Amino acid sequence: MKVLVLNCGSSSVKFQVIETSLEMIEADTDRTLARGGVEKIGLSDSRLTLDVEGRKPYQEISEILEHRAAVERILKILVHPEHGVLADVSEIEAVGHRMVHGGEKFASSVLITPEVEAGIEECVVLAPLHNPHNLRGLRAARGLLPNVPHIAVFDTAFHQSMPARAYIYALPYDLYLRHGIRRYGFHGTSHRYVAIRTARLLGRKLDEMKIITCHLGNGCSMAAVARGRSVDTTMGFTPLEGLVMGTRCGDLDPAILPWVMAMEELTLAQLNAMLNKHSGLYGMSGVSSDMREIEAACERGSRRAQLAMEVFCYRITKYIGAYAAAMGGVDAITFTGGIGENSVKVRAMAIAPLTFLGAELDGERNTHAPRGKECVISRDGSRVVVAVVPTNEERVIARDTVRVLGGVMPSFAAPETAAPR
Ligand code: AMP
Repeated sequence: MKVLVLNCGSSSVKFQVIETSLEMIEADTDRTLARGGVEKIGLSDSRLTLDVEGRKPYQEISEILEHRAAVERILKILVHPEHGVLADVSEIEAVGHRMVHGGEKFASSVLITPEVEAGIEECVVLAPLHNPHNLRGLRAARGLLPNVPHIAVFDTAFHQSMPARAYIYALPYDLYLRHGIRRYGFHGTSHRYVAIRTARLLGRKLDEMKIITCHLGNGCSMAAVARGRSVDTTMGFTPLEGLVMGTRCGDLDPAILPWVMAMEELTLAQLNAMLNKHSGLYGMSGVSSDMREIEAACERGSRRAQLAMEVFCYRITKYIGAYAAAMGGVDAITFTGGIGENSVKVRAMAIAPLTFLGAELDGERNTHAPRGKECVISRDGSRVVVAVVPTNEERVIARDTVRVLGGVMPSFAAPETAAPR
């Protein structure tokens, strides 16, 4: 079946049309027919792009004022006689929606019913910057495609299997009970996909493996995946916790916050901007949030860029150690995301101190890892295999859509380890 995958942000809608089925998932033959998006929604120069393999990329600039109009434009271009890939929109048999936050309500991808929609609405308070846009996209798409099932795939669902000891903060328990303040984790679709692909790449069974997945992009997170289930992850109540990111600080002494607010006379909004937009690689280096530019600045001898690189990689190394301890061992470490898939230097620096753990890179394999391909970059005989697996969140969303409709969607809830209420 052809599934339309939608990922709606505040001013953008990204999409893919993916042909898939339970049989194609099994045979790994599902494929993307088209991908693209609308950017700068709400402005007079909104940009629609469409990429179809083997064709010249298409783009047009026009005024697209809101999400419904954006989805409408996407459907129109998909059936365009020259540029499109569908004869008619009725070829779309289901829509898979990326939803950022499913709170504790959703431990799996689900068919969107009125109750599910109300549940996603309840999670808005946990992700006020994301869920409202995801919901806006859902409503727009449902209005335009009312006769097909719409499925929600949550960034948080995969991490719902974490035991309470990994997700409870040492704060007054009441904050968890009244406000749901706990660690949720994000990038779940990516960590899940990458773990599954790693087992497949190595010809091993996922449910017999301990894998550490490192999703390093603009946002960065790691997960400890034991026997196919997330048992810990670095992002927390929000995506700010954990690793150093492009502009986010990651782990921090929380006492810094009131201190710096008082000393610098910051408002809450300024504090938030400092932590989310002015920190991370950008904040430390003063150069850029973009790893390519950090690497170039390191080459030019910038000490601040070199330090930012060291802090970035050191934290990855530390978490690998922590997650090996959490799982009682590790069989594979996998890199994904723009940095994880492309930065030879980050992979080398993060893994270098881990020979004691049995993780040894093969310099040649790391340097010449084929772009966009799954591959092993550790040396033969390395006790821990190190791999690179390009992530594909849209593919997971399309696959989950098919699985939900086929009644074979796994759930990641872990009631036996849930915290007392
Ligand atoms: P993503 O959010 O997954 O698209 O990743 C974006 C990050 O990947 C940015 O920091 C980019 O600088 C980084 N990136 C992309 N290509 C490369 C590359 N060839 N070498 C190093 N970093 C890269």
